[in-house]
Amino acid sequence: MFLTETETFAALSERAVNLVQSGIVVLDAGHRIVLWNNWMVPRSGRAAARVRGHSLFDVFPELRGSRVEAAILGALSEDHACTVPTTDNRTPFPLREAGSFDGPRIDQAVSVTSFKEHGERFCLVEIRDVSGTVEREKRLLDHAESLRARSYVDGLTGIANRRYFDVALDRELRRAQRARGELALLLVDIDSFKAYNDFFGHQQGDACLTQVAQALAAMLKRPADVAARYGGEEFAAILPDTTLERAEAHANTIREHVAALQLKHAPAAHWPMVTLSIGVAAFQPDGLNTAEALIEAADKALYAAKKGGRNRVEVAGTAAA
Ligand code: GH3
Ligand code: MG
Ligand code: MG
Repeated sequence: MFLTETETFAALSERAVNLVQSGIVVLDAGHRIVLWNNWMVPRSGRAAARVRGHSLFDVFPELRGSRVEAAILGALSEDHACTVPTTDNRTPFPLREAGSFDGPRIDQAVSVTSFKEHGERFCLVEIRDVSGTVEREKRLLDHAESLRARSYVDGLTGIANRRYFDVALDRELRRAQRARGELALLLVDIDSFKAYNDFFGHQQGDACLTQVAQALAAMLKRPADVAARYGGEEFAAILPDTTLERAEAHANTIREHVAALQLKHAPAAHWPMVTLSIGVAAFQPDGLNTAEALIEAADKALYAAKKGGRNRVEVAGTAAA
């Protein structure tokens, strides 16, 4: 038997449509299904013969009121192609892995294209399985999120690191400037820590640093407070909405709390237990209004606390600092 060129082309087209690795559905102007390719069959559990001639919205009533319905009705009333946004619903069609009746739905990318044939309007609905892409995208996002979170955490002590401190101080300074609000900064340094390391060893020094960091973080109760490792055996606390006086009082509470932990110190240290020296500074709209100025002022106060005998708090701008 010899086929004409047109018959050969039609047979090849049908073969190809049924071999395509995505769903192809053609609807007539009354949104009745005229073509339902093989990809759709095992994923919808519906044979082509069963759905042909039925409205797509009778076959899948849940599509009514959806973006897919809007796109199809739009395409059938005007000439346009449209990709259905899937951010609100990645699984508009009740399609599952081939042959699975109760597994999870396939993630779908749907596009709708209008066309005319012999003066009649039709609409082509293409459904691609993007489950792998969505899964990959989610894994990448999770990975990026965990990298980002880790890049702000100090590896030893588990509190925020210097990088986070810089970002947070900048943000809080801008907020204080805008709202003409209060903002205080504490610089906290462990006393005679070199002696601690020399006596107990570096590893125990690390454990002590972690304990002090955790104690400091636990003392900062407000959600906007930040405790960070500033470097070495030095920590910083950012206290939004806190006056210089309140910050000084809080610094003393922190200092007393750490001393009360009675962490045994080296014999060469100034005190028998691990203690802190703390420098306090506060934002001033017309003076200490940059990160550099605020840090410098708190650092000077910290130096004064060291000079004054350690295990003490000094405040920027006073005679000692
Ligand atoms: P001061 O009371 O004046 O602060 O004296 P200090 O001995 O604490 O200060 P100094 O700056 O002389 O020494 C700081 C010590 O902190 C030296 C350094 O080995 C130790 N240190 C810094 N980072 C770490 C760390 O990550 N782990 C350990 N174990 N020690 C650290
Ligand atoms: Mg020190
Ligand atoms: Mg130091």
